[in-house]
Amino acid sequence: MCGIVGYIGSREAYPILIKGLKRLEYRGYDSAGVAMLQDGNITLIKEKGKVSDLEGLASSSNKSGSLGIGHTRWATHGPPNQVNAHPHASQSGDIVLIHNGIIENYATIKSVLTSKGYIFRSDTDTEVLVMLIEEIQKNEKCDIAKAVRLALNEVTGAYAIAVFSKKEPDVLIGARKGSPLILGIGEKEFFLASDASPVIEYTKKVVYINDEEMVVLQRNGEFELKTIQNERKTPYIQELELKLEAIEKGGYEHFMLKEIHEQPKSIYDSVRGRVDIENGKIKLGGLEEYENRIMNSRRIIIVACGTSWHAGLLAEYMIEDLARANVEVEYASEFRYRNPVIDKEDIIIAISQSGETADTLAAIEMAKKQGCLILGICNVVGSSIPRASDAGCYTHAGPEIGVASTKAFTSQVSVLFLVALWIAENKGTLSKSRIQEYLTELELIPSKIETILSETESQIKAIAKEYKDASNFLYLGRGYNFPAALEGALKLKEISYIHAEGYPAAEMKHGPIALIDDEMPVVFLVNNSSAHEKTISNVQEVAARKGQVIAIANKGDKVIAGMAKHVIEIPETEDALSPILASIPLQLLSYYIAIERGCNVDQPRNLAKSVTVE
Ligand code: GLU
Repeated sequence: MCGIVGYIGSREAYPILIKGLKRLEYRGYDSAGVAMLQDGNITLIKEKGKVSDLEGLASSSNKSGSLGIGHTRWATHGPPNQVNAHPHASQSGDIVLIHNGIIENYATIKSVLTSKGYIFRSDTDTEVLVMLIEEIQKNEKCDIAKAVRLALNEVTGAYAIAVFSKKEPDVLIGARKGSPLILGIGEKEFFLASDASPVIEYTKKVVYINDEEMVVLQRNGEFELKTIQNERKTPYIQELELKLEAIEKGGYEHFMLKEIHEQPKSIYDSVRGRVDIENGKIKLGGLEEYENRIMNSRRIIIVACGTSWHAGLLAEYMIEDLARANVEVEYASEFRYRNPVIDKEDIIIAISQSGETADTLAAIEMAKKQGCLILGICNVVGSSIPRASDAGCYTHAGPEIGVASTKAFTSQVSVLFLVALWIAENKGTLSKSRIQEYLTELELIPSKIETILSETESQIKAIAKEYKDASNFLYLGRGYNFPAALEGALKLKEISYIHAEGYPAAEMKHGPIALIDDEMPVVFLVNNSSAHEKTISNVQEVAARKGQVIAIANKGDKVIAGMAKHVIEIPETEDALSPILASIPLQLLSYYIAIERGCNVDQPRNLAKSVTVE
């Protein structure tokens, strides 16, 4: 959460910072700020609200300077207001700093500094760090780089920071622990950013900074990478593969809508090169090295958060069903603290779009210490979880910018389906011909999604108009459709702020049925599966209580047509794959309801993508 950008070189920093912050705004958007240095003076501009509000405020100010830092915040400590917005300045005003993460021991440090006469202006944990740097610099009479390094040895928690001092106008410093930070290397210029998007149009050469590492960047083009223990490191300079078009809206009104429509392509990209239908084989290069260990493991434990947890639940259904392996699914935030019984015979699969999810990262670090093999399923190449994992698979969905996950989810499910089939193939739980059938069907998914998009979007828009004022929604499904129902409900909550719950359809009678009246929309997932008849009985139970049934069903399902108020038709597919198809109308429904309600779908309130705090 929160986006940070920094620049040092010979160009004007402000336009680079603002453009970068707009690209990073998906990470946090409750307040924003910039600081630039020119002629020995720091210009500090901050504002509550979006980056555009900051721009408005800055329009009449002098914004010159070729050294600068910028931040878009997702508040953890203190309300989102102008004072708490970053950058934060030291007591003297000489040093400015931006921070993503949480300084956990901030209260202790703050009280020590307060007793020494420091006066804090904000409620943030961040301000403590910039004051501490100043105090250390005063005591040690050292340069800013050393003061930052020593300060970082005093703090606990997570950080990605960028900091500079007006006394050293040719130096910008970045450091990280637990929150992401990328260094972009140009011609005698450097960029710091939370992800590659602010850097991409200036340079393709990047260094992914590791935990407890810092970079000292000089305006003359020299730089140094070292640990906060002062050990020099050789930077590993990589070439970015990201394309600029991938992070722009491309004519769509919102990133979310663009990303919903991208799914035929993103799923194709997730699967590409990984299937060999002719031989009934799955090629997951990242996992092969650990094949024996995976096949002989006692248990697979999936750890994830939010939408990725729903993909994990689907993976449990798929791996147990197809590969007959023992799977458990855990919320990373619970797993990491509840002292679970795990050992080296267990395999952990960590799922995260950003690869930076703090709880998931902490869960795998904990499991690693117990000897578990760690496999990461992530979208962002080079992010922390893949780097902390023994092996894994990227989902290759392309950058996902809308805060509510859409294409990343369906790509996760597609890749996890391949993992299930790969285990099944190796364990011999499915015949070659059955695997071929599954793979053939998987290859048809992109074109089936095209069909859904072209045939259902206008119908869904009309349904959204009808239910935009509902205060509750229920989402029900059995078997593979249950995790899809959970994800559908989450999508609606996230972007339209309507309360929604997903339930196993059969569980409804144990509680939620009490909620049903003629105002309650109930979305049923009823594709043709072994659970079809039983789900139909649940539809009857809702219809008998005058609930408004919106069914996602297979084309030509006459039974459901007679009892649902609306039927959104999707093509038939394998049971295990049907959640991917069912997700498309569910995403569109939440999108259009949110639009009808005037909500900001790409930046829903209180949320942020890439949850790098616990
Ligand atoms: N903990 C800091 C704050 O509340 C940084 C939050 C962030 O990562 O945006 O200001």
